[in-house]
Amino acid sequence: MLPDFASIIAETKEEALSCLSSLERAKVIAGGTDLMVKMRSGERYDHIIDITNIRELDGIAVKDGVVVIGPVATHARLGSDAAIRENAPGLALACSLVGSPQIRNMGTIGGNIVNASPAADSIPPMLIHDAMLTLESKGSSRKVRLEDIIVAPYKTSINTRELLGPVEITSLKGYREGYFRVAKRATWAISRLSVAWAISEEEGTFKDVKLAIGSCTPMPFRAVKVEGLLRGEKRQPGIIAEAVRIALEEIKLISGIRPSFAYKLPVLRGILENVLGGE
Ligand SMILES: Cc1cc2nc3c(=O)[nH]c(=O)nc-3n(C[C@H](O)[C@H](O)[C@H](O)COP(=O)(O)OP(=O)(O)OC[C@H]3O[C@@H](n4cnc5c(N)ncnc54)[C@H](O)[C@@H]3O)c2cc1C
Repeated sequence: MLPDFASIIAETKEEALSCLSSLERAKVIAGGTDLMVKMRSGERYDHIIDITNIRELDGIAVKDGVVVIGPVATHARLGSDAAIRENAPGLALACSLVGSPQIRNMGTIGGNIVNASPAADSIPPMLIHDAMLTLESKGSSRKVRLEDIIVAPYKTSINTRELLGPVEITSLKGYREGYFRVAKRATWAISRLSVAWAISEEEGTFKDVKLAIGSCTPMPFRAVKVEGLLRGEKRQPGIIAEAVRIALEEIKLISGIRPSFAYKLPVLRGILENVLGGE
């Protein structure tokens, strides 16, 4: 059973911000695929503010190499949108693998970010695109990097009066980009391990490498040590083996040894060898 709450359907961003600033125990809802589960498990709010009717929170636009994504854009939309597929194909793929068709039609990118699950599929691809978030509250607005906003599993530093606005990602056109996830099943299953990458190469030399790993550490992370090691290096088995070793060591350093690592780390090794080796 859901606890009692008042439901408000905001038609404008100003209305939503005004509700968030004036009402106590108020919570934004987008697709509800995370929030409803939590409320059924006992989380309580007095006011639920539905933001899915707010048109300005729903667009996808590209300007000067930056893709601006409205927070209520659904995974289904991101998976099929031409601009996302062209400028961030790994993100499009990740969104098309979320949950099931029903979940993809309801669940939004904003909800995926704010829920901050270690297994969130959209987060590793957005990390490699250096995602920048706009957070708005009544009378003020701030910009913050996605990687700075998630402070613990399922916890962000977004405050209760703030609304997540546009998500900006840089286009990586010209990069070899992808996303791979391991889950118990193809649908209705969360990622046990995920990797997002974007690599640019010239004549067998890594010009730039961007790599993010999810579901192995409390928060998905950018493997910046690996990226730094590979930049400017020839693509050769020796340096790739060293890069993979560093990635696995970093995971163990962040998370300690976990029982699941007995299968996750060998699988991750294989994925990284393929990705970095150009397969
Ligand atoms: C059966 C099932 C399968 C799933 N499978 C996957 C999967 O494979 N991969 C995956 O990544 N996730 C999965 N999920 C989780 C979920 O669907 C996603 O995290 C989804 O993106 C959440 O979006 P939403 O719009 O439903 O968020 P909601 O439930 O509406 O909100 C989630 C949180 O975000 C806050 N919020 C939402 N929008 C804003 C905003 N603009 N500003 C401020 N706060 C906001 C809400 O207040 C709430 O705290 C699954 C969930 C279910 C139930």
